[in-house]
Amino acid sequence: MDLLHLVAPADDIVYIGRRTSRGEAVVTMESVDGTELGQLPNAPTGRDRWPGSVEWGYGGQGPRELSRSLLLHALGSAAVCHTCGGTGGMRVRAVPATPDGYVLESYADGPVPDADHRVDCPRYDGCEWGNVAVPGAQFFDDYVARWPKGGTGEQWRLRRSEVLAWLRGRAVVA
Ligand SMILES: [Zn+2]
Repeated sequence: MDLLHLVAPADDIVYIGRRTSRGEAVVTMESVDGTELGQLPNAPTGRDRWPGSVEWGYGGQGPRELSRSLLLHALGSAAVCHTCGGTGGMRVRAVPATPDGYVLESYADGPVPDADHRVDCPRYDGCEWGNVAVPGAQFFDDYVARWPKGGTGEQWRLRRSEVLAWLRGRAVVA
């Protein structure tokens, strides 16, 4: 699949990493003509974990989460697991006529089932909390680990189209 069709040149996004005077790392987004598009959303990382703060330039939780957040944001709707529809789980519906006595179905367009009627998404080729598995460790090595750790102001910028070009050919199934 050619991921580059996902973004027309005029719809490209520029991700910008800055450090405030207090050393806080922030990633914002702009259109190519400089219109501010807000802060990069944190990728979901499971029900039991706090969304962390982003970081770069060293190995750790923050840089790992930034790697994943950038990849998932760049993929957009192509990052959503199509088995569970992005929920990370499936509804268990009793169907006595089937061999197992039940079927699993997506509840993406309906209410979240209670714990007795919900199982984690069974997608065999990788579903991470409702998103397709992305090669975050390689992206960390190629980009996030290389961005400067210290300083203030703008530290790096990266285009969405460049992220998608990097993803192309890495067996990311969308
Ligand atoms: Zn899934």
